[in-house]
This record gives sequence, structure tokens and C-alpha cells, in this order.
Amino acid sequence: MARYRGAVCRLCRREGMKLYLKGDRCYSDKCAVERRNYPPGQHGQRRPKFSNYGEQLREKQKVKRIYGVLEKQFRRYFEMADRQKGITGVNLLILLERRLDNMVFRLGFASSRNEARQLVRHNHFRVNGRKVNIPSYLVKPGDVIELREKSRKIQRIQDSLEAVVRRGVPSWLELDKDRFRGRVLALPTREDLTMPIREQLIVELYSK
Ligand code: SF4
Repeated sequence: MARYRGAVCRLCRREGMKLYLKGDRCYSDKCAVERRNYPPGQHGQRRPKFSNYGEQLREKQKVKRIYGVLEKQFRRYFEMADRQKGITGVNLLILLERRLDNMVFRLGFASSRNEARQLVRHNHFRVNGRKVNIPSYLVKPGDVIELREKSRKIQRIQDSLEAVVRRGVPSWLELDKDRFRGRVLALPTREDLTMPIREQLIVELYSK
């Protein structure tokens, strides 16, 4: 499955906000947004002017980058969200939250979604007791995500779990750190998703 392989801090600087793509570094003063809070490139320090379309495009790019999804797959999520009942923009965000790599990150088994994606691909997790190595697998309420026995001694996973216990797990998830497993209690609501995202702009962009 294709994914972005370039420098990720550039993406945050382009969007003008922290997208938390690099794990612990994002919480330190080494973060590139803290150091150089202007877009990358030769003309980065010019004041950006956005048209309506530009704003919509930036919002879509931002969400794609947060969840590590490329255009074709993002478009598919949008079409799924559009077919569901309710508000399309909110449906879209909830679909993205349901991805297994996102859940692994939210539960604290990884310090970033990129790392979570890699762990999932490398067969470290089971969902409801069955091996699942597809990062885009959509989990549902009641699902149990568990780190396989052999992987429980991996230091970086243990460090990530320590860090998330300090930061806290989202209210729609439950983490049993000692048993290396998490449960999806419910799907998140829009209020639970606190990243500054204007999903309506994405709906407007794709509705043209
Ligand atoms: Fe973004 Fe993290 Fe890099 Fe900061 S350190 S610019 S939040 S990826």
C-alpha cells in the first residue's frame, strides 16, 4: 500500500500546525513548527493568501496527512461517508478514526500513526483474537485490539504505553496496559475529536 515517504515536518509547516507525525519529538522543543512556524520552501516566509478553493484544499490535505492516507483512498472514505446517514464531514472523520493504525496509536501502542501502521503491517496485533495486518482495517465498538505475546517486550512499545498513560486514553477507548490490550467502547463523536479540522470545507471541495 502506497504511503508518503518524504520529510514529515514539512507537512506540518505547510499546514501551519502540529500534525503529530513524529512521536515524542512532536512534544519537545525540537518540533519544527515551534522553531520555524512558516511554510517550507524559498517563498515560505511570504504571507500566504488563500482563495476559497485554496482553503478547502488545505483542509483536505491536512486531514489526509494527519491520518497518513493518500488521495485515492481518502476519496473512497469520502464516498463511504457520503453514503452513510448523518453529516458527511463528521462521518468522514469517524471513518478515519476507525482505522486500525489510528486505534493502535490512540491506545498508545505507538507514538505516531506512522509507527502504528508499521507495527500493524508487521503482524504485532490481533483483533478479537485474530491476526490482522491491514492498517486500514475498520474496527467497530466492542472490538478488542491486543498486542501479541511475542511483542510485549519491545521497549519502544512499552515506552509509548507509559507516555499514553501519562497523557490519557480517549474516553471512547479502554486500555488495559498490563494485559497489552484495548477495547473500543464506542465510536467517537465529533466533540471527542479535538484537532482543529473544518471538515465542511472538505465536503464543499468534493461536492464541486
Ligand atoms: Fe510536526 Fe511532529 Fe515534526 Fe513538530 S515534530 S513538525 S508536530 S511532525
